[in-house]
Amino acid sequence: MERLSTRDEAVASPGALPRAAAVRELASYEPATGVEMWRGRVGDVDDLVERARRAFPTWAAQPLSTRMELVRRFANEVRKDAEALAATIARETGKPMWEAHAEVESVLAKVEISIRAYADRTSQRKLDSALQGTMAVRHKPHGVLVVLGPFNMPAHLPGAHIVPALIAGNTVIFKPSEKAPATGELLARLLHRAGVPAAVMQVCPGGPAEGQMLVAHDGIDGVLFTGSANTGISINRKLAARPDKLVALEMGGNNPLVVWDTPKLTDAAAIVVQSAFASAGQRCTAARRLIVKDSMYEPLLAEVKALADRVIFGAPFDSPTPFMGPVIDTMAADGLTESFLYLLGHGGRAIKHLVRPDESLPFLSPAIIDVTAMADRPDVELFGPILQVVRVGDFDEAIAEANATRFGLVAALIGGTPQEYNRFWGGVRAGIVNWNRPTISPSHAGPVGGTGLSGNHRPTGYYAADYCAYPVASGEMEQPRAAIGVGLR
Ligand code: NAD
Repeated sequence: MERLSTRDEAVASPGALPRAAAVRELASYEPATGVEMWRGRVGDVDDLVERARRAFPTWAAQPLSTRMELVRRFANEVRKDAEALAATIARETGKPMWEAHAEVESVLAKVEISIRAYADRTSQRKLDSALQGTMAVRHKPHGVLVVLGPFNMPAHLPGAHIVPALIAGNTVIFKPSEKAPATGELLARLLHRAGVPAAVMQVCPGGPAEGQMLVAHDGIDGVLFTGSANTGISINRKLAARPDKLVALEMGGNNPLVVWDTPKLTDAAAIVVQSAFASAGQRCTAARRLIVKDSMYEPLLAEVKALADRVIFGAPFDSPTPFMGPVIDTMAADGLTESFLYLLGHGGRAIKHLVRPDESLPFLSPAIIDVTAMADRPDVELFGPILQVVRVGDFDEAIAEANATRFGLVAALIGGTPQEYNRFWGGVRAGIVNWNRPTISPSHAGPVGGTGLSGNHRPTGYYAADYCAYPVASGEMEQPRAAIGVGLR
């Protein structure tokens, strides 16, 4: 288990002191070609926090309608520059253009969802009470919120925190992933072009060191994080003695996809391939473990393998259009290759080998490995196109196997009866539980978050409105009216 290489292990140790001063420049490279695509200075954390603090009172005092209007204008700017944004995402992450376009659509959809969610979940309420006047419930922004973004959806996922945070009246310092600073910078430019003041929404290019400095800064009021569990845990630990700071953690998963009785093998196989290999498996919601009923094993795996064999992996602008791109960099590809070899060397049986056609680039084929015979299956998130298969005898065993993880982001059941789905829904531990749907692409019209190491009970999506503002209860009367009825001489 110790030798299994995961992306998590690359995360800086939580106790390490930030050393941003040593890293003054940051560069990002196109995974598909290795060509440099962005270079710039890392952010000056003290300066950014000071500006954000100064801008906060004026921004928070704006009418809500003004802030909503500005995020709607942001959506218009995204529409105008949709092609450029999609191309930047595709080049910087390596994902195919069709998928980068889908990410841009998600950025757009998130704006109206966030407006609706704010009105619904954070609306002003008055509860009349004859004796005590009025009880009013209103919401206030926290102040300066830090948004830390991951590389895999470098526009949509930060946007899913930035937009609700701005609507609620917070000022935002956004640190994009060090692997996607160009996308981060473009997203911020579109917000500024829409009229969001520069000091209200600032970008801090940088890596883990800048992330650590922002998290530890006394001048911030909260951290909205999307990334790996190890980083999330280190942020949580750093702020453990600061209950006054808001911490929302959206982390990874080791997501199970259970296949039970179904006559629709072709559809089941398509759902498996979409769930495991979209974005080259670089989705928090990707299916990592395929749990299959004994009697379904042979026919299902034959279909899944045949379909995975047809998957085209290539560069974003290739023709014919690839299904998936490379993983984010050669280090990630090396780690995934090592992990696959580890599984093979410890009782795994390859159904489809992990192939890396060019050692100098991070392109990996989809890979499928049966790990049923492994004595000690490592419960880690392998953030790439590796699907592990476990064969089970009965439904209780399937649920137990699905729950055999410290994570709890998504679990899905393919096939089965409505009664079996009910049992699955009740028994499985995850923030998203699907039936006959892929594990990926959760709708942001609902909560998006997980249990266990996948989050800290602050799901994003529609529910981001809940933690971007805090409720204030006020007992109110136009005139003082009081009398003491007991205990007086
Ligand atoms: P990561 O944890 O390496 O980095 C995320 C962000 O945190 C980056 O901006 C990074 O610079 C910063 N960071 C790194 N170390 C830090 C530290 N010690 N203190 C403060 N900030 C620090 O994640 P990644 O590799 O960019 O993204 C992939 C991971 O994100 C996967 O684990 C995936 O499952 C997860 N993810 C989760 C969701 C979700 O909604 N739950 C969505 C997408 C991705």
